[in-house]
Amino acid sequence: MKRTIAALATPPGIGGIAVIRVSGDDAIQISDKMFHGKHSLSDVDTHTIHYGLIKADEILVDTVTAAVFKEPASYTGENVIEISCHGGMIVAGRILDILYANGASPAEPGEFTKRAFLNGKLDLTQVEAVADIIHSATVPGAATAARQLTGSFTKKLSDLRIKLLDISSLLELELDFAEEDIEFADRSKIIAKIDETRDFCKLLIDSFESAEILRSGYFVAIAGYPNSGKSTLFNSLLGKKRAIVSEIAGTTRDYLEENIMINGIAIRISDTAGLRENSEDLIEIEGIKMVESVMSEANMIIILNDITLGMDHSDKLLLSIKSKFPGKEIILLQNKTDLTEFAEESYISALKGRGIDLLKNMIYDKAKVSEDRVNDVLINSRHADLLGSASRALESAKELVLNDSDNEIISIEIRKATKILGELTGESWNEEVLAHIFSRFCIGK
Ligand code: GDP
Repeated sequence: MKRTIAALATPPGIGGIAVIRVSGDDAIQISDKMFHGKHSLSDVDTHTIHYGLIKADEILVDTVTAAVFKEPASYTGENVIEISCHGGMIVAGRILDILYANGASPAEPGEFTKRAFLNGKLDLTQVEAVADIIHSATVPGAATAARQLTGSFTKKLSDLRIKLLDISSLLELELDFAEEDIEFADRSKIIAKIDETRDFCKLLIDSFESAEILRSGYFVAIAGYPNSGKSTLFNSLLGKKRAIVSEIAGTTRDYLEENIMINGIAIRISDTAGLRENSEDLIEIEGIKMVESVMSEANMIIILNDITLGMDHSDKLLLSIKSKFPGKEIILLQNKTDLTEFAEESYISALKGRGIDLLKNMIYDKAKVSEDRVNDVLINSRHADLLGSASRALESAKELVLNDSDNEIISIEIRKATKILGELTGESWNEEVLAHIFSRFCIGK
């Protein structure tokens, strides 16, 4: 018998309504003990909503509605009651106390969704989509998670599995006729299928960084020498005064971070401490260690140059950062152009706000590229690891085909890849994997 669990599903605090979820074999009976409506909840149809009073020892606690979902047609696959009561600090807590006194236990974080997985309502990629939809910092991220929740990833994985089955059956067909020494499948056909399958895995793996951007937003770090105007640019992008601007070099001591939304994408902006060259005038920069970790995490680094000191004043810094972070999006921006004759579009004045909208558009365009790369699924590190192992198994299968190895041995690698795909959806799982996935969940989900 499944322990009946209950928890608040909405954030605690002042609000219009609060929703309490109850799930388990006894969810209906336990709720009925405190619910007083026209009918007892045990007598009503599934998927119906009922108005009633909640009472504790004949004392009225609240007027509520209770939604009834009978197993297996519910989120968890068990009997579920969802009580909508008035929001605030008191009422929901009292109702929960009554439920616990009547035999329900407090739910652990993510326990409702865990039960949905264990009861076959959602596969693991869908469970992960639930967490992504809740935590997403971008509109396209939430939209992709919603598609994943309704099975877009599951579908891709079953396509992959069909490709693997195709390879296996080609290999096995040959095995059946091994004695006659007939080669049914053209080896090049097998290799082409393996390549196609591996490329598909790689395509998904490559979308990991883009998926991270859609999940948590696009991260821009502003770097440069002291007094180049980093804090002024930071404030100007935020549209408010957050960082202290001063003529004294070195006012931002490590870094500040804020989010802005541009067309539905959260852009995380970090204002970092000014970087200085050391006295020997080498490319080595003092203080870079502190800022380095911020820069390594960033999706884009803006190096801000004070144009009044010369257009090439920060070139050495630019080179040094480029060599430290190969492949990263790094742009040099000329600032304080209000003090010069230059009027090129890409030059900005953080102080006067010149070029800031263009800069925002440019950042948005870069962030938006991720949207086209995610392929309907939000790859996370667990997926990327497993898909990496699957494509390695495919690589070695290909090697074996090229070396004319026995089909049985090649099949072992193909089966390995198939098993790994099963781990993605959760056909095989262990407690550690589940614990990791559900650590992202809050109580009530
Ligand atoms: P940080 O050390 O790089 O963060 O630089 P701040 O943002 O503190 O700016 C240093 C000084 O440059 C301040 O006096 C700012 O007002 C000034 N400043 C920043 N941006 C501009 C700009 O676009 N034009 C002008 N004229 N002054 C600027």
